Amino acid sequence: MSEAIKVTQVSKYFSAEKAALSDINLSIDKGEMVALIGASGSGKSTLLRVIAGLLATEKNNASQVMVLGQALQSGGKLAKDVRQQRAKIGFIFQQFNLVNRLSVLLNTLMGSLGRIPRWRGLLGLFYPADKHRAMQALQRVGMAAAAQQRASTLSGGQQQRVAIARALVQQPEIVLADEPIASLDPESARKVMDALAELNQEGMTVVVSLHQVDYAIRYCQRTIALKDGVVVYDGASKALTTDRLNALYGASSAAEMFAPSYHDQPSEKTTASMLRLVSAEG
Ligand code: ADP
Ligand code: MG
Repeated sequence: MSEAIKVTQVSKYFSAEKAALSDINLSIDKGEMVALIGASGSGKSTLLRVIAGLLATEKNNASQVMVLGQALQSGGKLAKDVRQQRAKIGFIFQQFNLVNRLSVLLNTLMGSLGRIPRWRGLLGLFYPADKHRAMQALQRVGMAAAAQQRASTLSGGQQQRVAIARALVQQPEIVLADEPIASLDPESARKVMDALAELNQEGMTVVVSLHQVDYAIRYCQRTIALKDGVVVYDGASKALTTDRLNALYGASSAAEMFAPSYHDQPSEKTTASMLRLVSAEG
């Protein structure tokens, strides 16, 4: 069994008029690092959430999402053991979702909250083995030296690497990253992509959605391109020339996907959602 992810006849409608996903079929082998590209609104996040078991698909007897050989959802219903299955899937968000006022180490340890009794986590009574694993995860992303710092003192790129470490503590077999570099400057973006590539070289299956196609070409052999909820390309990333993208998306959208649109600071939207998270937790 070499398939990590198999998506069969998956559709998703949030409104009757427009499909967020329309009859998606794809399969990703263990050990692949695949880019998911497409303009904003093309369905990247929806597809990743479906693959993570965070969102049920449209009801359709033939629809199925298989993860590591097990049905994660079928016919629009999540499997009974979806929670256990989710433990094998690490999810990384654009906005990092760290708790600002907690240390890097504690943020990383939160990755193990799914496995330890809740009261232990809440009281900060993590097992030494969990702490050891968290430190190892921080080491893997080059953030061990910052373990005792508050998350709020880190740059966006550093926060994203801690978010990757938090996902690693869960010891996932698959990592899904939803636009992990969208709010980062080029140098931080490179470090985050390097960290994902390293995990992939160690055998992890990685699916990363990207708004910009240049990173897909640089880091992923294979790209799956979405447009209006439909897979319009699935093949070698290096075959995605400007002409090809123009043909897929039209010249103006393609130009936007090639033009860098980085911010040196997290966007206002990112900052706002991080603040929301912190206030929700505290
Ligand atoms: P992307 O991640 O590529 O920007 P999304 O998967 O977020 O695209 O969105 C795909 C489509 O589904 C868009 O038209 C979006 O407006 C719609 N959509 C996504 N999530 C929701 C939701 N929770 N409720 C309503 N519509 C949604
Ligand atoms: Mg998205």
